[in-house]
Amino acid sequence: MSTIDTDLPATTSGTGLHISGLHKTFSVGRKEVVALDNANLHTDKGSFLSLLGPSGCGKSTILRILAGLENPTSGTTRVDGKSPAELRSGHELGIAFQDSALLPWRSVRSNIKLPFEVARMPVDEDYVTELIQLVGLTGFEKAKPAQLSGGMRQRVSIARSLVLKPSVLLLDEPFGALDDMTRQRLNIELLRIWTEKPATTLMVTHGISEAIFLSDQVAVMSPRPGRVKEVIEIDLPRPRLPEMMRTPEFHALHDRASELLFGADTPASAGAH
Ligand code: ADP
Ligand code: MG
Repeated sequence: MSTIDTDLPATTSGTGLHISGLHKTFSVGRKEVVALDNANLHTDKGSFLSLLGPSGCGKSTILRILAGLENPTSGTTRVDGKSPAELRSGHELGIAFQDSALLPWRSVRSNIKLPFEVARMPVDEDYVTELIQLVGLTGFEKAKPAQLSGGMRQRVSIARSLVLKPSVLLLDEPFGALDDMTRQRLNIELLRIWTEKPATTLMVTHGISEAIFLSDQVAVMSPRPGRVKEVIEIDLPRPRLPEMMRTPEFHALHDRASELLFGADTPASAGAH
């Protein structure tokens, strides 16, 4: 059978997330920092992929390239066949980055509504209310960012990333500054929202359990210069329930991810010898 590239099934060519041969070099003074060295990743449309890796291995750089905030030195990224610029102009991206600044003069509610204004779309006030409730900020609608804790500000940016019901969701350690209880509650809520309308999602996290609990695939990166070491398929059934985190299958996946991240000689096992 003769197939040319465009005849490939949609799952391998058109839809989903495709990162191919991504290189990124930063110039710092006269020094060159190689942040990414041939990073490759492919997922299906509407799938949830988490990215784990040591600090400085280029996780945020991948997300920034996907969001069109940074250009790769070489290589390409496509989501559902679209370039970062096309995704941005179609208002299809939901982004919650660690450093995603809230507008300090605007209230919680008004910050969450911002994407509607940027996209010149009518505001879905009911959905804004629903999201405020979802991230546990009811009663704080009128508060300004300076009046909130770091964790609360993070929850505002998560709500803001979801408000346009994006088809592509990019999350950079969205639950980083939250306490375990809030983190777990938001994980479950994020999963519920994602199940209702599965966005093609790429989430950077340092939480191995969180990554496994939420994802279809967990990609583990090598230390800088970053490349994708291995992609672990998370074949746990959906819907995911918190009690699944106590099953042998979950523990086996957790061990595999830890091994890839820290090597066989984890601090715990190293201490035992
Ligand atoms: P991670 O998110 O995995 O911690 P980053 O993607 O933020 O890592 O950074 C990867 C590497 O690229 C690091 O060594 C970092 O110092 C460098 N880097 C990132 N952004 C810049 C930049 N704008 N200028 C120079 N170096 C950068
Ligand atoms: Mg980062």
